[in-house]
Amino acid sequence: MLVAGAAGRMGERLCALLAESEALVLGAALERPGHAALGRELAAGVRLTENAAAAMTSIDVAIVFANPAGSLELLRAAAEQGVPCVVGTTGFRPDEKKEIEAFAARIPIVLAANFSVAVNVLFHLAREAGRLLGDGFDAEIVELHHAAKVDAPSGTALRVAEAIDEGRGAGRERHLVLAREGETGARAPGAVGVLALRGGDHPGEHTVFFFGQGERLELSHRSATRDHFARGALRAAAWIADRPAGLYDMEQVLGLR
Ligand code: NAD
Repeated sequence: MLVAGAAGRMGERLCALLAESEALVLGAALERPGHAALGRELAAGVRLTENAAAAMTSIDVAIVFANPAGSLELLRAAAEQGVPCVVGTTGFRPDEKKEIEAFAARIPIVLAANFSVAVNVLFHLAREAGRLLGDGFDAEIVELHHAAKVDAPSGTALRVAEAIDEGRGAGRERHLVLAREGETGARAPGAVGVLALRGGDHPGEHTVFFFGQGERLELSHRSATRDHFARGALRAAAWIADRPAGLYDMEQVLGLR
């Protein structure tokens, strides 16, 4: 297994869980050029390197939790060498997502904004709530993350919003509201609002509200650590090893759809 972004918050947890695993082994670890930890030994014979192409020669699957540019670099090298990839990085622009789709024509890729099993059940429940409650209920999402998170709103919140729209019915125009200020006018029917809070060291929390007349439904997920994301990514890595080329998500890994 190759871990890219190995000295980051998620990369460290992945390497720690791999050290405890009997089935999966850390075979290579990547960081950005110039990182202070390059050369550090993370497992027997595995030193943190910046050379993606060389690191790819000794592994079956690559897992990347880095930034969008670094993740695309890794995917380019993986596509050239036919290595399946699990991508946890968030914050890709639409044109970068298109690049990932092009790589997925050559290698299998699991791309997921959130690898937690329970959050993927939340996606499923949000889709069902969107379908069952329809436009009569106003959907709003609140997410909370640590102060160092660099993208907003979270990829998970955007995925929840997408799932609600999928549940409400295909073909409708999506209306995502990411900010409200001044004379906004009344809330548009069918809109999905997302509010991002940032602070402290919180690994992640998402609540979706469905506001009706005189009642409301709330679905919440709260992370206490990052280990469930890392465990989910390792599960996806085992799942994708022998899949054909294509773009997959974590709901497919879990058999939720
Ligand atoms: P982090 O900043 O702690 O770690 C990212 C690491 O990637 C850093 O060590 C950085 O040096 C490294 N990096 C940057 N460019 C690189 C390159 N070209 N090659 C190799 N490494 C490179 O961030 P984090 O909290 O670990 O989160 C990383 C990403 O994962 C973010 O996009 C975050 O939103 C996302 N995330 C996803 C999930 C999920 O379940 N999908 C869970 C948590 C975080």
